[in-house]
Amino acid sequence: MINPFSKLGISDDVVNAVKELGFENPTPIQEQAIPVLLEGSNDFVGLAQTGTGKTAAFGLPLLELIDFKSNKPQALILCPTRELCLQIANDIRNFSKNKPNASVVAVYGGANIMQQLREIRNGVQVVVATPGRMLDIIGRKAIDFSNVKYVVLDEADEMLNMGFQEDINDILSTTPDEKKTWLFSATMPPEVRRIAKNYMENPTELTMGTKNTGNVNIEHEYYVVRARDKYAALKRIVDYNPDIFGVVFCKTKMDTQDVAEHLIKDGYNADALHGDLSQQQRDKVMKRFRERSMQLLIATDVAARGIDVNDVTHVINFALPDEIESYTHRSGRTARAGKTGTSICIINSKELGKIRQIEKIIGKKFTKADLPTGFDVCEKQLFGLIHRVHNVEVNEEQIGQYMSRINDEFADLSKEEIIKKFASLEFNRFLEYYQNAPDLNISADERERGERGDRRERGERGERGGRGAEAGYSRLFINVGSVDDFTRGDLLSFVCNHGRISGKSVGKIDLKGVFSFVEVESASAETLMANFKDVQYNGREVRIEVSGDAPRSSRGGDRGGRGGFGGERRGGYGGERRSGGYGGDRRSGERSGSGRRDRGERSGGGNSEGGFRDFSGRSREERSGGRREGGSDRRRRS
Ligand code: AMP
Repeated sequence: MINPFSKLGISDDVVNAVKELGFENPTPIQEQAIPVLLEGSNDFVGLAQTGTGKTAAFGLPLLELIDFKSNKPQALILCPTRELCLQIANDIRNFSKNKPNASVVAVYGGANIMQQLREIRNGVQVVVATPGRMLDIIGRKAIDFSNVKYVVLDEADEMLNMGFQEDINDILSTTPDEKKTWLFSATMPPEVRRIAKNYMENPTELTMGTKNTGNVNIEHEYYVVRARDKYAALKRIVDYNPDIFGVVFCKTKMDTQDVAEHLIKDGYNADALHGDLSQQQRDKVMKRFRERSMQLLIATDVAARGIDVNDVTHVINFALPDEIESYTHRSGRTARAGKTGTSICIINSKELGKIRQIEKIIGKKFTKADLPTGFDVCEKQLFGLIHRVHNVEVNEEQIGQYMSRINDEFADLSKEEIIKKFASLEFNRFLEYYQNAPDLNISADERERGERGDRRERGERGERGGRGAEAGYSRLFINVGSVDDFTRGDLLSFVCNHGRISGKSVGKIDLKGVFSFVEVESASAETLMANFKDVQYNGREVRIEVSGDAPRSSRGGDRGGRGGFGGERRGGYGGERRSGGYGGDRRSGERSGSGRRDRGERSGGGNSEGGFRDFSGRSREERSGGRREGGSDRRRRS
């Protein structure tokens, strides 16, 4: 019996290789695409979802069309992420294992470029690449694409979502005009259509499954708040979603730093990703995010290109993009790999028009959502805690040795009292923070009044200016930090040497991840700023500038560091970690809760007050108690 792949025109050596992989029959897309692509004379557009056997659909014909006697790149496959890049390269190596001299190289960011350059120099017929790194290598004139006959754009919609349009243009311009382009995409939004139109001539089109114009798994929501309440709104959204794993988009580098800094100070586990970071810094930030030891990534559009992290639950547009087309790129960071996700815009009422424009572009309606009240947040957090306590894995061996002492401590309390106390331990902190929390929502017709400001209502979150420098000192921002392996001492010498000031004039040094703050006596600060010119560190320009003000709404009103998200982690019950305010059970390893205890007063227990008093009474879930994960301490800022 003739092998079905042979029937499609695939040669024996490749058929034998796919047989070994367990491919007995071609998938529908392979059945349709292989004969067309084998002709090698047409451009091609294939609409197919991931998992349909796309890689073999283009990979097998490619192997028939390539001249393996030559060691020049003849096929270039561009794809959006390093994971896909590695997977495709691996698949094609497997398909071509019986072809002597076949060489496939995977070119992707975040890995050693020298190794990739070496592999290219050694001779390669098939290059599988992510756009950014490919462009880098082209820029180094380290690859010759003059013999490229086939370019495959895999997951084209995703590449465009990630903002690779220009990179793709640049890469394609280095390949011969006569090449054939094969485009695969799960969806066919207008941007992908445009690529097909611009780069292809009468492409053969195949559709497997249904067409759609955007990611159907993304819910789009917007919240209308006063401009000055944006930061408070962001925090409330995060607090209401304790398991959030999100990307927050800002417009400028300074904004990303500002928002990240405030979130860190407020105890959330966040960091900034922007264009001023070196590749190494960027990799470190991304590694933390990918490993989920960071919960919120604050990014600019440019920096967020190519973020290929699955399971992002939320994209938050802290500021809408200037170019509304970028919204698709942003929202595409969530709902990847068949998951669902939410894209949120925090806007002021003047920006409603932009929402309508975006709706047109994405072909989907936004839901106007109301920010949860303080009461809602507390309830959500309370039951988050209750579920976590219920589900926490008990380390019998370790806890066993303490049980009799623990029981002694609780001897005078009933089960109900113990449960109530465990729940209150964390819950009270949110109550304290959120009691009297104002309604941050603003309706469209409230705009006039709202913009003038009903300041009374926000009285308690007013001008408590949380983080100014000490009197007589200026607070300076510098774009290096602990990810550059600086200690406070290193930073002190670095600043003093380059700024030519005495160490005595330097006050507090606040070492962050990718940036830091240094307080310097105001007179010396001027000298420092004047001298600090053209300073480089690890080949990167180091900037120092007077620290911007906090986003207004973030001042005051914060409820102190959230131990759980705490940027600076402490041992606590080593190994356990928390995510949201009440701790989480989903983040990676080493995190523990009680961040930032050193920085302020500890918030005591105490009973809930005011409007939230009835809460504990409503906690009907009388589940067995457990110990608090992570030992969180929330810092109260006066
Ligand atoms: P892809 O859409 O190329 O990522 O392929 C999805 C999965 O299907 C991969 O694990 C492939 O190895 C597998 N696959 C592709 N083609 C076939 C086939 N004809 N028979 C069995 N498995 C296949």
